[in-house]
Amino acid sequence: AGSETAVTTIAVIPGDGIGPEVIEPALDVLDALGLGTRTDILDHVNADTYLRTGEALTGSDLDRIRSSEAALLGAVGDPRLGDTSYVRGVLTTLRLELDLYVNYRPARLWHDRLSPLRDPARRAIDCVIVRENTEGLYSGIGGGARTGTPEEIAVDVDLSTRHGVSRVLEFAFSAARRSVCLVDKANAVRNGGQLWQRCWGEAVARHPHIATSHLYVDTAALRLATDPTGFDVIVTNNSYGDILSDLTAALAGGLGVAASANLNPVTGRALFEPVHGSAPDIAGSGTANPFGAILSVALLAEHLGRNEEADAVRRAVAAAVAAGRVTPDLGGPLGTKEVGAAVLAELRRP
Ligand code: ATP
Ligand code: MG
Repeated sequence: AGSETAVTTIAVIPGDGIGPEVIEPALDVLDALGLGTRTDILDHVNADTYLRTGEALTGSDLDRIRSSEAALLGAVGDPRLGDTSYVRGVLTTLRLELDLYVNYRPARLWHDRLSPLRDPARRAIDCVIVRENTEGLYSGIGGGARTGTPEEIAVDVDLSTRHGVSRVLEFAFSAARRSVCLVDKANAVRNGGQLWQRCWGEAVARHPHIATSHLYVDTAALRLATDPTGFDVIVTNNSYGDILSDLTAALAGGLGVAASANLNPVTGRALFEPVHGSAPDIAGSGTANPFGAILSVALLAEHLGRNEEADAVRRAVAAAVAAGRVTPDLGGPLGTKEVGAAVLAELRRP
């Protein structure tokens, strides 16, 4: 913000496992786009730091991220650590502190060959999951009693607020190209379901020119797995969005190609990351697919208003896929660095 010459800073958290491996080619792509950004690399935000100090993301790290225009994250996660405190400490802190209430997950088939679907006429997925990112079943509210006894009970609160629901629905409509589909389970989860339905009715009335539909999550899963071609924007809560976006990623070629944005469309704060985690099973082998991270850079470019550059990245990825310049998860022979180089070569092609 400020003068025309102000440099746009991108905070970068390479993280753990394959995170740093895929961030490297992603930063090369960012560099090649010539957006005039500078990076602030926070490479100490990782599991090693957490194991040493008990704190992975400090207040001063958050300040550096807050004073940046956007953040780019590789992945956090480590098999040495339980899956709660560390990952929650980084990802959830970022999402909640920056109030990144939208999780935006596009799924587009870059090449017919990447689809797991048998019927060629039903393969062309091109949709976006808009997942509520701050409440729902992942609110962290709950508890247990009589732990370890035969009478043990556990409660996890599925939180919905009018504020939280209406703002994510509003974003979904703003992101629609053709239509918005609400996915919920209002027939079984009554209270939250009714709140979502009321907010949905109001949002639909505010956007009379956008086609809408409503599906229960079980039906949505079936529909996606058999014929995903009709979907545009799918808006849903935190947990259904988590699950359905893995499904849409699989329909578009797998976790390796899935990109995401965590957004606060009101404040403009944004964090971009591949959908995959730290993938400890392949970390260090040099074979991680960098497309998820590279396509996250395309979303970042779009966020900065550079739609042409974003499209150029997507065309370069599509060309690399078409040429078979891909990693083993997509059936190709190349390593992470070679795929990065292939995308750069496509980008520089006149
Ligand atoms: P985390 O706990 O950090 O989420 P994880 O064990 O759940 O790690 P994911 O990263 O979610 O692992 O990956 C799940 C599976 O998908 C793993 O088998 C992994 O090897 C594979 N995978 C994920 N990302 C990629 C990628 N970029 N390239 C190739 N394979 C990937
Ligand atoms: Mg995972």
